[in-house]
Amino acid sequence: MSSLSVVGTTREGVPVMLLKEGSSQTRGRDALKNNIAAAKIVASMLKSVLGPRGMDKMLVDSMGSVTITNDGATILKEMDVQHPAAKMMVEIAKAVDDEVGDGTTSSVIIAGALLEKAEELVKQGIHPTVIVDGYRKAMRQALEILNRIAEEITADDHAIFRNIARTSMESKIVSVDSDVLADLAVNAILAVAEETRHGEHPNDNHFMAVDLDNVKVQKKPGGAMRDSSLIKGIIVDKEIAHSEMPKKIIDAKILLLNSSLEIEKTEFEAKISIDRPEQMKMFLEEETRMIKTMVDNIKHSGANIVICQKGIDDLALEYLTKAGISAIKRVKESDVNALAKATGARVVTNLEDLSPRDLGFAGLVEERKVETDKWVFVEKCKNPKAISILIRGGSERVVEEAERSMHDALMVVKDVVLKPAIIAGGGSAEAYIAQKLRAWASGVSGREQYAILAFSEALDSIPISLAENAGMDVIDTLAGIRSKQLSGNNPWIGVDVKDMKVADMRKKNIIEPLAVKEQVLKSATETTAMMLRIDDILAAARGTASGA
Ligand code: ADP
Ligand code: MG
Repeated sequence: MSSLSVVGTTREGVPVMLLKEGSSQTRGRDALKNNIAAAKIVASMLKSVLGPRGMDKMLVDSMGSVTITNDGATILKEMDVQHPAAKMMVEIAKAVDDEVGDGTTSSVIIAGALLEKAEELVKQGIHPTVIVDGYRKAMRQALEILNRIAEEITADDHAIFRNIARTSMESKIVSVDSDVLADLAVNAILAVAEETRHGEHPNDNHFMAVDLDNVKVQKKPGGAMRDSSLIKGIIVDKEIAHSEMPKKIIDAKILLLNSSLEIEKTEFEAKISIDRPEQMKMFLEEETRMIKTMVDNIKHSGANIVICQKGIDDLALEYLTKAGISAIKRVKESDVNALAKATGARVVTNLEDLSPRDLGFAGLVEERKVETDKWVFVEKCKNPKAISILIRGGSERVVEEAERSMHDALMVVKDVVLKPAIIAGGGSAEAYIAQKLRAWASGVSGREQYAILAFSEALDSIPISLAENAGMDVIDTLAGIRSKQLSGNNPWIGVDVKDMKVADMRKKNIIEPLAVKEQVLKSATETTAMMLRIDDILAAARGTASGA
């Protein structure tokens, strides 16, 4: 990039400053080339992780902590990319992750391929605008084909839900236990799904809502992954604060407190001058009396357990114990909020205006041992939609990857509950759409035809990468898929990376939500289009960027 602060001159030769000193400008084809080069690097990095036979990445952050993952979104998030175009690739993955939760790697690979093909077309003299139009046309046609081949399912087909969750975890480190994790994901989503007349997707043929905030994923290293479980309630990773307090409370009336049960220590050091022993005694008595009043207020409200976000004084603990009230202290704010939602409690700050109506309800509150820790399980809540998944596993890294995989699994099950249609995986849908697009392109006149053909080739990058990562012959595999799809009129012929052959992936139960594939195509195309339309990169000087 050349460093330019003067970008124009008037006819009289007077320089006009358009950019701040130190800014740089890259123009035209150079800008496009530069952006495509960066985006291609990101895409090529992710190619090797795609699919069940994809490799994992080890990411080391600036603090030296290590993450081992196969999750495209996580890899990109941790990579700390600097180049603006590369950042756009990261954003595609994020958009797909937020919308549908899976397909992040695929979207980046397809976008990379679209850009690579576009670069070739530009070299052949086709204007980027024409390419963008062609790509958009191709995408609309691709979505149509996708919807035509998609299989509608019924909302109670739990076996299909399970296979969708399993497919999303096929490519993860935790795939050996995907049967257990998939069951947890399906049961969790079914527990929180609600039929509603005001669904988020009024155009779909049914009305469901799934609030993933109701599902809390907790992890604890130790034990085996198969010991992971679904808890109909909330888990608080703290113990009951005093050994003599009840550890099991039936019909719990829960007080959620976000202030401390202590006498406020003043912020600044206050000096209390005590000259006589009586004064000291008075002072302590006053403190005792205030704490007693606090506990009395709690007692009168009818609460039998206090869950406190801040600290609880020893004296307060003693009074509470005497009153038969259990307590947990220093509970995370997010847990307190989840408990409020689950038990119907109001989070109380001031005990003086505490009323029985502020309390929440749970059928059972119990302290249980989890490995070496004691955690409190709040179950049979007023709102039965509050669910927790407790993930167990051999080590910290394994449970972390399991948690990420659980996110994907929960999201894909949510996707099909909201939009009950599926397609088969293994690159089958991509290869099929590519074939159909090629045939369709011949009917499109002009240069857009080239862009449509390029789009179809970009889709092939999915079956190609899957085959490549499995060590299969790419050319033979692709040829095999194409001929079998045509001869059997079967769109579900794809790469079976486990058996290293071309097979009907629907029969193998490798299935994915239609919504995921739609989102992948949309996001990849849109970001590519955005990048192709850039013909000028104006970069502010580093470190001097201001809000101007
Ligand atoms: P993404 O982030 O795009 O979801 P993944 O690494 O999860 O990337 O890989 C997903 C791809 O792997 C999809 O195309 C899916 O169809 C494919 N896939 C999953 N399981 C299998 C399998 N057993 N055989 C072949 N392909 C599979
Ligand atoms: Mg995936």
